[in-house]
Amino acid sequence: MSLITPHGGRLVNRVLEGERAKAAAAEAGSIKSLTLSPREQFDLEMIAIGAFSPLTGFMGNADFISVCKNMRLANATVWPIPVTLCPPDDLTASIREGEKLALKDDKGRLLATMTVREKYRHDKELEIPNVYRTSEDAHPGVAIVRKQGNTCLAGDVDVIDPNPEPEFAQYRLPPAKTREAFAAKGWQTVAAFQTRNPIHRAHEYLTKCALEITDGLLIHPLVGETKSDDVPANVRMECYRVLIENYYNKDRTLLSVMPLAMRYAGPREAVLHALIRKNYGVTHFIVGRDHAGVGNYYGTYDAQKIFDQFKPEEIGVEPLKFEHSTWCNACEGMVSSKTCPHGPETKVHLSGTKVRDLLRSGQRPPMEFSRPQVADILIRWAQSAKS
Ligand SMILES: [Zn+2]
Repeated sequence: MSLITPHGGRLVNRVLEGERAKAAAAEAGSIKSLTLSPREQFDLEMIAIGAFSPLTGFMGNADFISVCKNMRLANATVWPIPVTLCPPDDLTASIREGEKLALKDDKGRLLATMTVREKYRHDKELEIPNVYRTSEDAHPGVAIVRKQGNTCLAGDVDVIDPNPEPEFAQYRLPPAKTREAFAAKGWQTVAAFQTRNPIHRAHEYLTKCALEITDGLLIHPLVGETKSDDVPANVRMECYRVLIENYYNKDRTLLSVMPLAMRYAGPREAVLHALIRKNYGVTHFIVGRDHAGVGNYYGTYDAQKIFDQFKPEEIGVEPLKFEHSTWCNACEGMVSSKTCPHGPETKVHLSGTKVRDLLRSGQRPPMEFSRPQVADILIRWAQSAKS
């Protein structure tokens, strides 16, 4: 049985083992060290475990320019978003090409070493409008790029510890492990659902529609850096667990987390999310309306349409382009505009604000909107966050 080929042909593993790790750690004590930003720490982990295959390190200038302009690496492999190391300017000033650096987290713990292959100007005026389709600082992804340094350091990373303090360690399966799990279960086709929110009935329905045409389902929440107003990852994990426990076929469902920092780059990020999932062994990827969007920066279907700019074999994963779904009282079931002939008056629709108000006041949203077990977890969180 063979699983889908990783992006670029080979699953990268930049984690050093045994004597090589010890030697690198010993050497790191005597070289210049650099503290990574939270975004860079997550990106380092994604490179280390092969989730960003074929990337083996932080991007050089040729890849950076090509990615910004053409959504491809310099060798033409599809890649939609730069993965760069851009420390503060006062730190990069003294760093030279060829120099070896110890990369550390914000608590001073050694993560990796990197020989600086290239040092180049961070062209934010190229990156921002191309990747984010806006230059407004109110966009959270744009704001992060603006705060980054004006110089990028490129080089392959040799990782000693991808994450000294992994959240949800038991659910943090790297691509090699999800692939093992799929093979062990005999799943040839696997649909992945990316989420940074609790799963309510609408998304439960989409995941189950996907599972109807695949062997297995990977519920793959993102636990990297998100916006401060998103529901915290630990609360979401509790919601996912109780939902799977009560409403999913456990022989067909795997829950694992992904340490990716959100860019909120909408369409381009949808492509990135699909390519990453291919590395995890996934064949089908659910792309909802306004996937990875924020505010009103992207058109409703942009994240679905962008896949049409590539040949299917260049992406490798089949995007499952879904409509919004809701409960329809007339149909007595979950529906979308593709399947239901009734008007809005038959739909159970609640705005995000309405849901938050209900939860804060200790009331469950209607069972057609949210499973009661999930609602109860969110009520506990909303009420404790309020005080
Ligand atoms: Zn209907």
